[in-house]
Amino acid sequence: MPSQKEETTELSDEQLRILRDHGTERAGTSPLNDEKREGCYFCAGCGEAVFSSEAKYDSGSGWPSFFQALEKAVDLSEDTRFGMYRVEVHCACCRGHLGHLFPDGPRPTGQRYCINGLALNFVPSDSPEK
Ligand SMILES: [Zn+2]
Repeated sequence: MPSQKEETTELSDEQLRILRDHGTERAGTSPLNDEKREGCYFCAGCGEAVFSSEAKYDSGSGWPSFFQALEKAVDLSEDTRFGMYRVEVHCACCRGHLGHLFPDGPRPTGQRYCINGLALNFVPSDSPEK
């Protein structure tokens, strides 16, 4: 039998809207905004690690924000929807839409990955599920 990744994640309609249809959750609604524990953030669509808590910071934007993604974990593309030019952040593995990248982040990168909390699953370092 070929090994197959078990489909354990049940995605809500809202999560599907974000990941597949470039949706955006309402600002300030994600419990991950206040998440300050050490750990890893995984793509809700495929379970690949995409951000580390080490790169998370409080941007005050209302969305979980990171100044850096894990290496090769995300891909960027141009997004010109709604007549705006933005840089879109996708999961490199499943191509799911995670959020947008803005050039107004803190040091050392100066970048702000503005990510939908619903597109992420957080697993704290001290979790037995690690
Ligand atoms: Zn993914």
